[in-house]
Amino acid sequence: MRRNTTQRKAIEKVFKQHDRPLSVDEVLKYGCMIVESLNQSTVYRNLKLLTDEGWLERISHPSLGTLFERTGKGHHHHFHCRECKRVFELPGCALKEEGVAPDGFIVEDHEIFLFGICPSCVRKTR
Ligand SMILES: [Zn+2]
Ligand SMILES: [Zn+2]
Repeated sequence: MRRNTTQRKAIEKVFKQHDRPLSVDEVLKYGCMIVESLNQSTVYRNLKLLTDEGWLERISHPSLGTLFERTGKGHHHHFHCRECKRVFELPGCALKEEGVAPDGFIVEDHEIFLFGICPSCVRKTR
């Protein structure tokens, strides 16, 4: 029981430190720096637990698959850096859903990923 709490705390800490959507592999990589005993199955189990509790939510990335991010941030979009493959959160939304879909379609929700180069990768390449 004690060990589970330690692993879970480590995963929570990873999300607090990075504050952006993370893949299972990223959570594992960063989590192992905090608690060495983490492995893929403990990461999966804790991510599922935290998602069931509403602390995390899943987002579907078009090429990276399922990512996890903290809940409670309101509606926002994401930016995928093609260099470092990290996904960032973009605040707010400028999309007017009315008028985007043709007549007859009822838009209920949307998810937007922008693709490009993040500021730290721009600095590295210039
Ligand atoms: Zn980058
Ligand atoms: Zn939006």
